[in-house]
Amino acid sequence: MATKVTKIGVLTSGGDSPGMNAAIRAVVRTGIYHELEVYGVMRGYSGMIDDDIFRMESRSVANIIQRGGTILKCARSDEFREPAGRAKAYENLKKRGIDALVVIGGDGSFKGAQKFSNEFDIPCIGLPGTIDKDIAGTDFTIGFDTAVNTAVEAIDKIRDTADAHDRLFVVEVMGRDAGYIALHSGIATGAENILIPETKTNIDELIASLGEKEKRRKLVNLVVVAEGDEFGGGNEIARIVKKRLPNIDTRVCILGHIQRGGAPTCLDRLIASRMGYHAVESLMQGRYNVMVGIVNNKLHYTPLDHAIKAKQKLSNQWLKIVKILAS
Ligand code: ATP
Repeated sequence: MATKVTKIGVLTSGGDSPGMNAAIRAVVRTGIYHELEVYGVMRGYSGMIDDDIFRMESRSVANIIQRGGTILKCARSDEFREPAGRAKAYENLKKRGIDALVVIGGDGSFKGAQKFSNEFDIPCIGLPGTIDKDIAGTDFTIGFDTAVNTAVEAIDKIRDTADAHDRLFVVEVMGRDAGYIALHSGIATGAENILIPETKTNIDELIASLGEKEKRRKLVNLVVVAEGDEFGGGNEIARIVKKRLPNIDTRVCILGHIQRGGAPTCLDRLIASRMGYHAVESLMQGRYNVMVGIVNNKLHYTPLDHAIKAKQKLSNQWLKIVKILAS
C-alpha cells in the first residue's frame, strides 16, 4: 500500500444524503491544505469506470456547504461489482496517479471500496453518508439529521389537519431496512404507534391500541411506519386499519423523497465537515481502509471490513420510551 499519498479522489455513492456537499468541500480543502492534488469522481463508481474524473480546486467547492444533493452526483454501478469493471476504474485512476480514495456513501459503497483496495492496493477511507443511520461505529451519519427533521416538520403539519378532523393518519417515512427515521421522527412528533423493520409488528396489538384510543375519544392519532416494515408500509397498514376499524376516519401520507432533499441542518454540516477533514488527516497519518465516525463526540475509526458487516442496533430504551409516552 502507498506509503505517502499525493493525489486523492473523492466520490459520493449509493443514495444521496444532505450534507454530502459539506463533506466533499472538507475533503477538497483539507487535501489542498496538505498540498495534495484532489480529483472529483462523478456519479460514484460509474464515473471511475467511465473516466468522468476532474481536478478540483478550492473554488470548485465554493458556495456548496448549504446545498442538499451532491455536486458529484450519486449513482449505483453494477459494473463495479464485477472484477472487469473495477479493473477499468483502476486504470483511470492509475493514469492520473491517484493513489487514494475517499468514498462517501453507505455500507454497499464501503463493500466496493474494500474490494477495490484489496485488489489494487489503493488506500480508501469511508465516510458514512446515508439518511438511514444504520451504520455501526458512528453516532451520526451524514444526512440523517436533515432527513429526520424534514420528516418531523411534515408530520407536525399532518398532526394539525388530523386534529382538525379527528382523523387517524398513517405516515410512511423512509427506511427500507432501518427504522431510525421512523423511530426518531415518531417520538419527536408524539406518534402513538411507530412501526419499524427491526421489531416484529403485532397488527392485533396495533388495532387494539387504536380501538381503545377511539373509545377514549383520544383526538389525534398518528401512526408512523418505516417503508420497510414487514407489513409493507403506509398503504398496507392503512388498508388493514380501515378494514378492522371502519369507524375511524383513516388517511395515509407517504413522505417519500422530500426526506432526501433540502439544505442540510447545522448538525449535518458540522459532522460532514469534521468527518471530511479527518478523512484526509487519516490518509496523511497512514491510517488506511477505515470508516471515519464520531462516537461520544470523539473521532472513531472502524476498519472498513467491520463497517460492512456490523449494523447499528436500535436501543431497547428507545422502544420502551415509545410505549410509555404513547399511552
Ligand atoms: P445507501 O445506504 O444509500 O443504499 P449504499 O452505499 O449502501 O448506499 P449500494 O447501492 O448498496 O448503496 O452500493 C453503492 C454501490 O457500491 C453499488 O452500486 C456498487 O457499485 C458498489 N457495491 C456495493 N456492493 C458491492 C460489492 N459487494 N462489490 C463491489 N461493489 C459493490
